[in-house]
Amino acid sequence: MGVAVTAHVVVVEGVEVDTRHWIGGARVASERTFADLSPIDGAELAQVHAGTAAEVDAAVRAARAAFPAWAALGPAGRGAILRRVAEGIEARLEDLSRVETRDNGSLIRSHRRGVMPRVAMNFRAFADFAEQELGHPDLEVPGRGHRERITYDPAGVVAVITPWNAPLMLATWRIGPALAAGNTVVVKPPEWAPLTASLLADIMQEAGIPAGVFNVVQGTGIEAGAPLTAHPGIDRLAFTGSVPTAGVVAAAAAPNIVPLSFELGGKSPLVVFDDADLDLAVEIAVEQFDNAGQVCLKAARMLVQEGVAEEFTRRVVAGAAALRQGDPREEDTDVSALIAPRHFEQISGFVARALDAGARALVGGGPNDDLGGLFFRPTVLVDCPPGAEILTEEVFGPVVTIETFATEDEAVQRANDTRFGLAATLVTGDRERAERVSAALNAGTVWVNCFFVRDLRAPFGGNGRSGIGREGGIWSFDFYTDIKNSVFSPSGWEE
Ligand code: NAD
Repeated sequence: MGVAVTAHVVVVEGVEVDTRHWIGGARVASERTFADLSPIDGAELAQVHAGTAAEVDAAVRAARAAFPAWAALGPAGRGAILRRVAEGIEARLEDLSRVETRDNGSLIRSHRRGVMPRVAMNFRAFADFAEQELGHPDLEVPGRGHRERITYDPAGVVAVITPWNAPLMLATWRIGPALAAGNTVVVKPPEWAPLTASLLADIMQEAGIPAGVFNVVQGTGIEAGAPLTAHPGIDRLAFTGSVPTAGVVAAAAAPNIVPLSFELGGKSPLVVFDDADLDLAVEIAVEQFDNAGQVCLKAARMLVQEGVAEEFTRRVVAGAAALRQGDPREEDTDVSALIAPRHFEQISGFVARALDAGARALVGGGPNDDLGGLFFRPTVLVDCPPGAEILTEEVFGPVVTIETFATEDEAVQRANDTRFGLAATLVTGDRERAERVSAALNAGTVWVNCFFVRDLRAPFGGNGRSGIGREGGIWSFDFYTDIKNSVFSPSGWEE
């Protein structure tokens, strides 16, 4: 439970969390609050301050005021401070892990081993890249005698809106490059998991981030998110979330001609060929239940070649059945609860309609009655009718489908038969097939005989309904900067 230690600070898992906004280097209260509940047991963790257009406006103004000095520091000056932010995250890795786990129900072991170290990397790596990449050698233009200088000027104020499934990871993946490139930031965290953003504000302050460079406005999508997306003072909008919300956000930002970076949902395939290392294929398949399947990159649609379909399916079902479901604060828990009652109803509805339409659940298929609450059993569905909703819509929960295919061409055609295009995974022992199929798949990221690995220098993003734009390495700086070409003719002076 969250215990109030002062009017605005609660203790969650032994960690003090301020429930107010962070605007212009100070804690700011709102008149109203909203309840933040834990998915693990429904406990109220905090009453978090509910921002509105007024707090958003104050934050954008603070960010605007702080921008010139932050931009003027240059990549090295900013990098020194951002590396201290990374160190601050590493020093508080356990606090961040505990609070995130309590707040959104994700596994503590994932946070300790992978997620929170990556959060720190989002600052350190982009501080490094900015120093390496934000200079470009002049283009010498033969014959005309002039030089063209390409510079990456920070864009200004970046608005960041993030979802609840990996709140701190997804926020810092935008905040790190935005700050490294010289922008200032206003972030609107998800109302279902708002707490780690507040801890990040503490870490930023301790690291010496100047007042106004980083701002947090808590609140709901409608009350705080919408005014941020429509604010004329923002210069970039980085949104991670669902397709329907993205449409509303794009419309709100359109009158101000604000460039968008959208990372949205998916319906990604896992294609398993009959020449695959089946141990590996099964391992990747069972990994899809991580974070109770609430992962944008999840390979929810499994397509298996006929010759190995029976064995693959049997082993995936056994693997799913063996997963330990329970409290994510325990190191040996594999699958936790869904984020909120409304989401639980959505997942239950998807599965019930699939079963009604003729699908069969080989394991799972409904709530975990032993645990109650928001725990939904890892579910493997087969015999889903072609075109069924369960095969086409994003189901953001512990549910996968298995279908079979005969030929490589059929596998590619069916893998690509989706409006999304976030990721695709294939498992094969044939190198030439790997090259052919990876080239033919329509996705921002293709994994061959691996899953969920990516260097921060590489581009990330989605095709089709899965997003707009690419981030990572230099692609992040393409988005967070105004790229300028200055053409110098030597005719005014002696070279
Ligand atoms: P969501 O779209 O409901 O909410 C995302 C954020 O938008 C939240 O902070 C919310 O408060 C805010 N919001 C809601 N309405 C708004 C409005 N009118 N104006 C401005 N902001 C508004 O998404 P969610 O349920 O929080 O997250 C799940 C979705 O996110 C899934 O579709 C998932 O695939 C996607 N996702 C994508 C990636 C990626 O990298 N591609 C990563 C994680 C999650």
